[in-house]
Amino acid sequence: MVLSSMSKASPFLIDTRELIRRPGEMRESTVEIVTPYPIGIEVIGIPAGAELFIDLRLESVIEGVLVTATVEASAVGECARCLDPVVEDLDLYIQELYLYDDDDRPSGGKKAKKAAKHREEDEEMEADEALYKLDGELLDLEPPFLDAVVLALPFAPLCDPLCPGLCVECGLPWRDLPADHAHEVIDPRWADLKNRLDLGGSAEMGDTSSSG
Ligand SMILES: [Zn+2]
Ligand SMILES: [Zn+2]
Repeated sequence: MVLSSMSKASPFLIDTRELIRRPGEMRESTVEIVTPYPIGIEVIGIPAGAELFIDLRLESVIEGVLVTATVEASAVGECARCLDPVVEDLDLYIQELYLYDDDDRPSGGKKAKKAAKHREEDEEMEADEALYKLDGELLDLEPPFLDAVVLALPFAPLCDPLCPGLCVECGLPWRDLPADHAHEVIDPRWADLKNRLDLGGSAEMGDTSSSG
């Protein structure tokens, strides 16, 4: 793997230099990101090194930069019923407002919000935590992307919604077994009799039944 000076930074950092403090400006682009680490849950996820195809729209607004993005990616995992590999195509939608990370701009709205904060501190705190902030000229798409992936992944991935799973007796996939596949459960007291019949009794028995 070749590391350029650029790739040391997270690939999810988006440069918003051209948009900052220019409300009304908009940029659209397509971005390809290679995931530096696996993203997902235990049973299914996007493997490290997988490609993400992102349609990105950045809009400069008064308070910051509004991001609208669709992300296409493939997650791989294991069928919860038959353990076959499962590939899940993800089509994620992200829309988040990233606020300027400063308090020195004159903003009546912000002051009003601070006043409200004293009244309903807890609620305001929660609302504030849900907001993203710009880091200088950079916008980190990683947190909302991770949230979107986890929300989109199935907790019990299936190779097919009708996957019949595995035979509980032999562990083979029902898909590969004949419809009448069954395991004879023989009472040990009858096993000896069955062996004798198998050894030579069956033809005679057939004759007896047809004649009588
Ligand atoms: Zn399956
Ligand atoms: Zn079986």
